[in-house]
Amino acid sequence: MPSRALPDVILIGGGVMSAHLGALLKSLDPRLSIHVLEAAPELARESSDGWNNAGTGHAGLCELNYTPPAAAPGALPDVSPALSIFARFERSRHFWGWAAAHGLAPRPAEYIRAVPHLSFVRGTERVDFLRARHAALHAHPFFRTMAFTADPAAIRDWAPLLIEGRRHEPVAATKVDAGTDVDFGELSRRLLGWLGAQEGCRVATGRRVIGLRRAEGSWELSVRETASGETESVAARFVFVGAGGGTLPLLQSAGLPVTRGLGAFPIAGQWLACANPAVVDRHFAKVYGPPPADSGALGGPHLDVRHLEGGRQLLFGPFATWTTKFLHRTGHLSDLATSLRPGNLPTLLRTGLRQRVLVGFLVRQALQSMDTRLAALRDFYPAAQAADWRLVEAGIRVQALKRADAGRLSFGTEVVTSPDATLAALLGASPGASVSTDIALQVIRTCFPALLDSAAGRVRLRAMVPTFELDLAAPSAARDFQRLRAESDERLGLTAKAAR
Ligand SMILES: Cc1cc2nc3c(=O)[nH]c(=O)nc-3n(C[C@H](O)[C@H](O)[C@H](O)COP(=O)(O)OP(=O)(O)OC[C@H]3O[C@@H](n4cnc5c(N)ncnc54)[C@H](O)[C@@H]3O)c2cc1C
Repeated sequence: MPSRALPDVILIGGGVMSAHLGALLKSLDPRLSIHVLEAAPELARESSDGWNNAGTGHAGLCELNYTPPAAAPGALPDVSPALSIFARFERSRHFWGWAAAHGLAPRPAEYIRAVPHLSFVRGTERVDFLRARHAALHAHPFFRTMAFTADPAAIRDWAPLLIEGRRHEPVAATKVDAGTDVDFGELSRRLLGWLGAQEGCRVATGRRVIGLRRAEGSWELSVRETASGETESVAARFVFVGAGGGTLPLLQSAGLPVTRGLGAFPIAGQWLACANPAVVDRHFAKVYGPPPADSGALGGPHLDVRHLEGGRQLLFGPFATWTTKFLHRTGHLSDLATSLRPGNLPTLLRTGLRQRVLVGFLVRQALQSMDTRLAALRDFYPAAQAADWRLVEAGIRVQALKRADAGRLSFGTEVVTSPDATLAALLGASPGASVSTDIALQVIRTCFPALLDSAAGRVRLRAMVPTFELDLAAPSAARDFQRLRAESDERLGLTAKAAR
């Protein structure tokens, strides 16, 4: 097939990352032509789909992995990772507020809700840790509204299921009412729907990119139409690979230096979903516990109210399980094998050897029976009845493994770019969706600096993301934080009254 006219930008993948980059770029420069190519028949049905992630607006309010315990006995935990994730998520809240107010992502109640975020611990040592964590966080304006209690009666008021049927033991919890539950799939479809309707833009589903090659002044993509099997060649001046689990194979086909020694390992997830509406109705919070000691940085289990497909759900997990697929819906069992190269095999082997504790954890997770999953649930909800719960699939997390990491695992997300900054890609999974605005800004700063060179460009961006040049965690920014939070809450309908 002949090549079509050259768009300025092609975004590979119709998930939350491409949605944010596309919406921000087009809003910054309305002249840009942007095409989105999505392999699946629908947009945002992989990791960004509501069922395939926890929907937690990661802000360090309840996730204990953002406050590692202090090394010295009696010292306060390090809160800097919590401050950082809070400030990054705040940028997303600001952008979504702007997007809701300007027609890019209307009807925010359908993709974001205010939900209390709780941390819950058992045992004297953990109660002491949670108390110290609260003391350290509460001192900062971001966490001023965080409440702490070690009184089971107060915890019952916050989340009755945590206490019902529990034997006497030390327990403690913290609570922040201003947490969020986000349906990242719904949000992505809104933003991409808006983008596809803009002049010069196109969002196409059923188009799988199968090859990526640098040509003179552009990138050439081989694209297969999944329904007919026909292949065409398209080109663009700039390409963003936002293909989630499909990113590594595309970077390998592009032959970028960054892919030398780069491997990937998939970990699938599962939830326990409550099928009893009487139980679902009695839990209105996201409750995070401590990560199991042997789980690496995979994060702890949580018991969450969710709002998905217009209904209220109660999910517990995630539980890890084995897969060799890189994508939940359109992946193949051969994905892991075909990603192997002589260059990345040593990276995978070295990681496996160095991470024996995590590998052991994953093996035990994968071999779990329904009874052991229910036992984990009863740590949170002691009175849980087996008949009320069923196992459902969650998404696949594809962990990027870099040669330079020498077997260490970093569970964050990372933007990689070609040396000439004409291609960018996102590696890694979490906290991903929550910081998609920040990630898109990082791509824009690196690959489209001209858009921010002019005063007019910066004014436009400041209207969308007022904190893009501001360190919101600095003491001097406390007033800005309150003012901007009030504005985005108003725009997103995140008032306490609107919550339930
Ligand atoms: C169990 C679990 C829980 C999580 N919980 C949270 C959470 O609570 N909060 C949070 O912020 N983040 C969470 N995450 C992470 C979050 O889901 C991801 O960071 C985010 O969804 C990634 O978005 P994406 O757009 O990069 O990828 P995706 O949503 O996977 O989108 C990639 C798209 O690219 C398409 N694609 C792939 N290959 C090709 C190709 N060759 N050609 C064309 N299209 C292609 C796919 O079909 C897909 O639609 C969680 C992840 C998991 C696994």
